[in-house]
Amino acid sequence: MIEAVLFDIDNTLILFDETKFFEAYISKLTPVYVDVFSPEEFYKRLIGGSRAMLRNNGQKSNADYYMNTFCHGMGEKREEFWNRFERFYDTEFDAFSDLVTPIEGVSEIFNEIHEIGLKIVIASHPLWPERVQQIRLNWAGLDGFPYDWITHIENTKYCKPQVEYYQEISDSIQIPPEKCLMVGNDPVNDMVAGLAGMKTYLVTDAKEQGFESFPMSQEIREQVHQPIPNPDFTGLLSDVPYVVAKLLSSS
Ligand SMILES: [Mg+2]
Repeated sequence: MIEAVLFDIDNTLILFDETKFFEAYISKLTPVYVDVFSPEEFYKRLIGGSRAMLRNNGQKSNADYYMNTFCHGMGEKREEFWNRFERFYDTEFDAFSDLVTPIEGVSEIFNEIHEIGLKIVIASHPLWPERVQQIRLNWAGLDGFPYDWITHIENTKYCKPQVEYYQEISDSIQIPPEKCLMVGNDPVNDMVAGLAGMKTYLVTDAKEQGFESFPMSQEIREQVHQPIPNPDFTGLLSDVPYVVAKLLSSS
């Protein structure tokens, strides 16, 4: 019997070219720091922060890990830099919705699962603050949905593709991994949930519509030390309710 359904966001609930999105994001964000860092230095720190999160071993929040690296040698500026990011997210981030295509029927799928009484978790890479996860969920047509848990940079101590990221979610929602279904488009980042004991559903909407995922670096792949089990299910996002019904009836 499953009790919770976890969803990735990028190319699972919204479709977009991740490389193009990232380039647009960097080009808008770089000027925010132009008085402090050269564009090259800023890029190095921004990427360095997300790489550092891969080494997080659960001792500190991802936000701490990220900001320690981003602010290296400038610790006294940490709060100011955090505020610069927040201001940018509050005022400029929503404009990137132009680069994103929502998938029709997402809110109906969520309502259906919610009405059955299952928990709904947003298990999107916790690189972003909660505010940004919310904005991206709004792009998917899910404004105001009563989520049970959303992972973000401040409430997580692991990130994808660490298996511990999924164990941490299971602990946070107090539902064992065996009673969770993870839905996502990425064969590594999302399907690694199978190693934690979760059921997995690999969605193919993005692939079928030609939206490109961010190329995964060797460094990220090396985070997974065991073979990733094949997905339990593969198909379109619109079939999630069928998969849920199947899992509920098989128990
Ligand atoms: Mg994704």
